[in-house]
Amino acid sequence: MDESLDGAHLWRLTLEHSPIGMNLVALDGRLLMVNRAFCDMLGYDATTLTRRGFQDVSHPDGAEADRLVFARASSGEIDSFRMLKRYVHAEGHAVWGDLSVALVRDGDGHPLHLIAQILDVTEQREREARLEAARAELQREHQTLEAIFEAVSVGLLLIGRDGRYERMNRRHRETMDLPFPDGHAGQAGQLGHVYHLDGETLLTAEEMPSSRAVAGEEFSDFTYWVGRDPRTRAAFSTSARQVRGPDGERLGAALAYQEVTELLRAVQVQDEFVSSVSHELRTPITSVLGYLELLCDHDDLPTDVLAQLHVVRRNAERLESLLSDLLLVGQVGEDRLVPQRAWSDLAAVLDEAVESVRPAAAERGVDVALDAPTGVTALVDEQQVRQVVDNLLSNAVKYSDVGGAVGVLLRQVAGAVEIEVRDTGMGIPSHEVDLVFGRFFRGDAAREQHIAGTGLGLDIVSSIVAAHAGTVSVESEVGRGSTFRVVLPQPGGVPEDPAGA
Ligand code: ADP
Repeated sequence: MDESLDGAHLWRLTLEHSPIGMNLVALDGRLLMVNRAFCDMLGYDATTLTRRGFQDVSHPDGAEADRLVFARASSGEIDSFRMLKRYVHAEGHAVWGDLSVALVRDGDGHPLHLIAQILDVTEQREREARLEAARAELQREHQTLEAIFEAVSVGLLLIGRDGRYERMNRRHRETMDLPFPDGHAGQAGQLGHVYHLDGETLLTAEEMPSSRAVAGEEFSDFTYWVGRDPRTRAAFSTSARQVRGPDGERLGAALAYQEVTELLRAVQVQDEFVSSVSHELRTPITSVLGYLELLCDHDDLPTDVLAQLHVVRRNAERLESLLSDLLLVGQVGEDRLVPQRAWSDLAAVLDEAVESVRPAAAERGVDVALDAPTGVTALVDEQQVRQVVDNLLSNAVKYSDVGGAVGVLLRQVAGAVEIEVRDTGMGIPSHEVDLVFGRFFRGDAAREQHIAGTGLGLDIVSSIVAAHAGTVSVESEVGRGSTFRVVLPQPGGVPEDPAGA
């Protein structure tokens, strides 16, 4: 018979070239025959393997389970079994195999040997293990975030695109009673006892932080009061950010609510203190100045006494100017800084300001120049604008050295007037630029060089400019100087002829 047609030989060839590991196992576990795929899987040659039992290449961890199921098959109790098991590769690492075993019986039904098929599933198992580890990591991360979400002292709220409250943490739940004593329906924009900083004006539905966030707005530190009773109400500072999907689509918004009651009350107390102290001190200092003036008018005083009186008077005047700064700051705190607008000749105002700073500038060796076209008039509170220019000018001189140049510029632009005060002085470091308009802020250099000041000047400037609905900005470079620019918008534009307005 043609050998190629020999069924047994054909079978042998098939087994040998099968891409799946195969072997013939004796009833005592010896490997009678192994194919190439099985050899490759475990890194041994066929001769080595056929000298061993399957137990010798199996991982010790599954040995007992292996033994039990093999005993049941080899005794004829079961005809087949399938299991996922680990083998040990010649190089020592584990190889995962998906093992299917079938029992072969002789003509009388007695067990003869077993045929095993082993599919290498190591990669698949490793992938699964990696996936499992990633899932566990994700779960851990989720639990950590969840714990933080609940534990933080900041109220957190997630709102859907449709304005529905999707999630809130414990802290936010606790604070809902004050603004919404009758409950909240879980929809953005519900009106409650939520007030502006004046403590009286209620927020409209559109002004509520949740509505603004749902409308797509992002904001930081929006501060307001909640609660009907002024004695028990609380202040909150809220920030909102949009939550977006992977393609940038808007999914909703996240809001963070921080209670700032203590801080706001402290600021209130500070404002009240500043205001009452400056009021109380103003009357005696006015009286002191009055009497000093009378004294200085005496022409029979010895010159040394007169010189000393002038020193006392200069210092008393300085005290008075400090007090008027403090009074103005107090007015800002109480929202009483309302500009009394009237038509004003700005060039004249600037000219007076420049002239009054000239002696101090000359003393420091600083030149002051004014560049103002005549006839620029504006509807402003003249006294307040003068104070803005005085403060900017005195800073420009104060923070300049001998040989410095200070320039004041007036410009008329579309719908506004612009005043610029520039100097060639010490400049402001970039990390201080955003801070200089803050109340009581003093730069490091100002303090280190003992340059007199209270840190109120620019706070007053920005309050007055804001009360005029204008803006003030600064550009500065350390060692080269600073330029402060004030823009005062003019309702209806700047008229050519104010008399006709
Ligand atoms: P004060 O001058 O009393 O310290 P201000 O509010 O007027 O307070 O200014 C705040 C701070 O801004 C100053 O301490 C100083 O550091 C800085 N600053 C203001 N104007 C100038 C300027 N023209 N050049 C350099 N630094 C300035």
